[in-house]
Amino acid sequence: MNAKEILKKYYGYDAFRPGQKELINHIIEGRDVIGIMPTGGGKSLCYQIPALLLEGITIVISPLISLMKDQVDTLKEYGIKAELINSTLSMTEFRGIMMGAREKAYKILYVAPERLEAESFIDLLKELPISLIAVDEAHCVSQWGHDFRPSYRRISQMLSHLEKRPVVAAFTATATPLVKEDIIKLLRLEQPFELVSNFDRPNLYFEVRKPQNKLEEIRQYLLENKDKSGIIYCATRKNVEEVCERLNRLGILATKYHGGLGEQERSENQEDFLYDRMPIMVATNAFGMGIDKPNVRFVLHYNMPKNMESYYQEAGRAGRDGEAAECIMLFSTQDIMTNRFLIENASLGVDHSQDYQKLNHMVDYCNTQGCLRSYILTYFGQVALEEDCKHCGNCNNEIEETDITREAQIIMSCVRRMREQFGSTLVTDVLKGANTQKIRDFNFHELSTYGLMREYSKESIKELISFLIAEGYLLLAGNQYPILKLTPQSYPVLKGEEKITIRRLIMRQKELPEEVRVEAHELFTLLRQERYKLAKAHKVQPFMIFPDTSLKDMCKR
Ligand code: ADP
Ligand code: MG
Ligand code: ZN
Repeated sequence: MNAKEILKKYYGYDAFRPGQKELINHIIEGRDVIGIMPTGGGKSLCYQIPALLLEGITIVISPLISLMKDQVDTLKEYGIKAELINSTLSMTEFRGIMMGAREKAYKILYVAPERLEAESFIDLLKELPISLIAVDEAHCVSQWGHDFRPSYRRISQMLSHLEKRPVVAAFTATATPLVKEDIIKLLRLEQPFELVSNFDRPNLYFEVRKPQNKLEEIRQYLLENKDKSGIIYCATRKNVEEVCERLNRLGILATKYHGGLGEQERSENQEDFLYDRMPIMVATNAFGMGIDKPNVRFVLHYNMPKNMESYYQEAGRAGRDGEAAECIMLFSTQDIMTNRFLIENASLGVDHSQDYQKLNHMVDYCNTQGCLRSYILTYFGQVALEEDCKHCGNCNNEIEETDITREAQIIMSCVRRMREQFGSTLVTDVLKGANTQKIRDFNFHELSTYGLMREYSKESIKELISFLIAEGYLLLAGNQYPILKLTPQSYPVLKGEEKITIRRLIMRQKELPEEVRVEAHELFTLLRQERYKLAKAHKVQPFMIFPDTSLKDMCKR
């Protein structure tokens, strides 16, 4: 049987996806490979099919127990014999599996990387006729990746102990050049065939929203997307609990997944979702690695993840069947603080500059005005699209430029007057003219910029500040307590030599019927609904049309 026949016979597919055939052929011919394909690109086949074609046994190193179990179960469903070795096995089970391997009772053996730490296990491996070592999620070997596992470093040691060096095939969805080089070096791949597939997923629609109330935004979204299956990612277990409970109270079928739940509850919830008994999964990033649910129609991010790698991996779980799906990020400036806090507390005394840099890219994504898809592709080392994709929240022709130079000047001079010593929350409070203890302590109500942006909502001031940070007009410095600083770019603006514009949709004047006499607050609600519809139609955030404060002003007049 050849590769194509196996594809048809065991998996039931007619054609290979881009890159699969090349990778498979090189492996069969005995060459090391490194395959970089986006999540859902079909990496597993690229080592499973060679495993069936090669003489001996294939060892697959994979980082998660749940992931391995899934894969082995799937293989068994396809009629392919496979086993796995992890810490949950009893001694008898373990012996049985090793015996089976020696007797060539099966072709594929999944091994948890921690196992490689034991010399005794390496000794057992030496006795096996190993043809291929496949390293799944190979970025785990690199510190520059986003998921470093020290035991992945054992792989090359194990290789050096084997009498005959097998073919080594590495797979990952992390495409930054640094990580790729690291994988090649640390796994000691020998002149590997490299395949980096196109990372674009044309069926995915990307959007960043900045709602004032995220829960409300989710509720609205789910109302508009009834009966569809989707994942809502949250940063913390607490957020997962809150969001899930809130949705359940609204009568929406949602289940949850995070590291704090017992193993049984986790696997039950996961299955409820996989088998569509529960259409919505609310989860932390603990959920999803290796999960292959084809009909996920949307992935919402309740919080911004810590880097683009995580984001694209999580968002990429949408639309695996190739049908249209949406990836929507609900961003707030608080997410930046949360992530900074998480980075700072991840492991004390370690250099986090890499993590901060990655976080900054993630923040830029949330605040860029350019094409989101191009941003993603450029980030992953691929050339940007030549034209706007017309299929992301930012590629919208009907958005007009609005001059925000004056607002920028006020914000910058406020930062300067506060001696570049404070974060965006306090700067916002000063501009808003708040009367807090801290403002009184520092006598900030005496500043000339105090209350200068009273008519703006706090959210829109914060929004403007994040925009200025993203565009380099302000700098977020200091790790634990981020403080705002001016940059060389600030001065031309302060001096009036440079203008800053933001792309916003200008609402057309709407005539209201004469006889409709509504109280101010009713009008306000009405306008908000109109604004929401308009924003929806033009795929922009509502506040971009008019901030709440201006709506309120309009109602007063
Ligand atoms: P990855 O590991 O790259 O994220 P998987 O190996 O889990 O992706 O594959 C994702 C999905 O694509 C699986 O459902 C798999 O069966 C399917 N798939 C893989 N190759 C093909 C193919 N050639 N034709 C159709 N579906 C495929
Ligand atoms: Mg995979
Ligand atoms: Zn676009």
